[in-house]
Formats: sequence, C-alpha cells, structure tokens
Amino acid sequence: MKITYSIIAPIYNEIQTIPELYRRVKEVMDASGEPWELILVDDGSSDGSTEKIRELARQDKTVRPVIFARNFGHQVAITAGWDYARGDAVIIIDADLQDPPEVILDLASKWKEGYEVVYAVRGEREGESWFKLWTASLFYRLIYRITDVKIPVDTGDFRLMDRKVVDVLKKMKERHRFPRGMSAWVGFKQIGVTYKRAARHAGVTKYPFKKMFRLAVNAITGFSYFPLQVATFFGFVSAGIAILAIPVVIYMRMTGSGAFFGQATTLIAVLFLGGVQLISLGILGEYIGRLYDEAKGRPLYIVREAPED
Ligand code: UDP
Ligand code: MG
Repeated sequence: MKITYSIIAPIYNEIQTIPELYRRVKEVMDASGEPWELILVDDGSSDGSTEKIRELARQDKTVRPVIFARNFGHQVAITAGWDYARGDAVIIIDADLQDPPEVILDLASKWKEGYEVVYAVRGEREGESWFKLWTASLFYRLIYRITDVKIPVDTGDFRLMDRKVVDVLKKMKERHRFPRGMSAWVGFKQIGVTYKRAARHAGVTKYPFKKMFRLAVNAITGFSYFPLQVATFFGFVSAGIAILAIPVVIYMRMTGSGAFFGQATTLIAVLFLGGVQLISLGILGEYIGRLYDEAKGRPLYIVREAPED
C-alpha cells in the first residue's frame, strides 16, 4: 500500500507517554483521510518502553517498531526513522507530546501548497524551566550566528519533509549529526509554521545538560570552522601583545624602570600562553576526533528488531 505520511517518534524511556502518543497521532492522522504509518524508534530504552512498542505493533499494523541494540541518541534515532520511512512526507515528532500531533495537519497543508520542508517554530513554550528556556534561546541564536547554514531560530526537530528531501538526507552519513541543520543545509523550498510547545505529557527530560552541550558542539563543529578560527584569532592576539610588549619592556629597562621584573609577570605570561595553546589543541582535537570517527566507518546504529514489512 502506498503511504502518504510517515511519522517518526524517537523513544528513550517514555513508557508513560507511548499509549497517549499513539492515541493522539491515530486520531489526527485518521482524520487526514490518507494512509499513514507511525515509526517508533526505541533508542535503547530500559523502562519497558520496548515491550509497549511491540505490543502496539502487534495490535495495529500502522505502527512499525525499530528497536535499537542500545542507546544511540536522539539524532541517530531520527536517522533510523528516515531509513525505514516509506511515506511521501516524513514527519519527526518528539514522543513526549511536547510537539502536539494536531500540528501535523498544519504542516501537511503547507506541504500540499508545494513546500518541501515545513519546520515547526516554537512560539510559546509551556512547562520548561527558565534554565532550559535560556540555554535553548542562547543555543539557537549562537548557532544562527556562527554556522554557515541559516538554521531557523526557535526550531527543533519537529518538521515535515518531502520524500525528495529525505532521500537526500539518507545519503548524508555523517556520524555526529544535527538533523535540523542538515535539513536546512539541503535547501529546497522551506517554510516555518508557529506552534505552542506543550509541557511534557509525563516523565522527565532525557536531555540533561551534558547531552545539550554535546548537541551544541555537534551543531557548531558540524556546520562551521568557527572554533578553529577563534583559536587562530587568539594566536594572533597573543602574538600581537608580545610584539607590542617587547619594545615597551626594553625601553622601560633602559630608562631604569622597575616594572616587569620578577617571577609573577613571567608566570602570568606563561600561564596565559599555555592556556591559549591548550584550548586551541582541544579545539583541534574535537575536529580530529570527528575525523577519526568518520574514518572508522562504523554503522550509525545497530537494529535489534526491524519492522516486519
Ligand atoms: N530521546 C531519544 N534518545 C535519547 C534522548 C532522547 O530518543 O538519547 C527522545 C525522547 O524520548 C523524546 C525526544 O528524544 O522523544 C526528545 O527528548 P526530550 O523530550 O527528553 O528532550 P527535551 O524536550 O527536554 O529537549
Ligand atoms: Mg521533550
């Protein structure tokens, strides 16, 4: 059967939200009157979500389970969804119902107008801590400024993409992924639809600060050389200071001034330079580590159970 809509929901320990997610997606998608499938990607859950997904798939053939061998991360789970999706339009949605399934119909209507990427822009956000709101806002704006692709601000992974776009994305095999950046990078006709991001249906966020930070680093290194340029910039700044300081110090010594004598001055200069060098080395390391990961060419994810059909 030809499928129009593939809805992808990555799931990591969301046992409490799965039944409600299924119910609401079904209600909305049945109302669309077109054939659809719900791809539930289990990203190595350990709370019984896996069994819940299997159970749903047994009851309803529109649910297609992709079960990972371990936790590979949200971005990789989305990628697996792209690989298994058969629809003409592919929608990525969070499993915790922060992205209301009802909005899918708004995205779909823009798609029908001829847009190939319809991304959902977070207008209001309910039930988030000020820390999350602040860091998220800073993150979107920083990424917008320093990366080479114009990734729309206040936009998460919730979006609809045409088959053409997904086929291009499937060829992009990079390991450290940032799907929303990738989908901006490919071009095509894109448009945003504003929606109100709800509070989590149940459970807690699966994005502790560490994961958010990794995501930000992936976004920046994946789409720009900005950190390397910063390292070069500081190299020039410290070299510049040295060049200016040398004649000043010589002059002061010759005129008998006591300034710049002593260990403290030397220590500060050495620490400053050492710091700049180590940070630059670390930045370089981030890129080299990524090169190494790419060179190994391991599979992006390992599937324990794939959908039957
Ligand atoms: N998620 C995942 N793997 C992970 C972390 C999260 O598949 O390693 C899923 C999670 O189950 C949810 C979505 O990614 O469906 C977004 O995660 P979450 O709601 O915790 O992030 P937040 O909305 O707090 O940024
Ligand atoms: Mg969430």
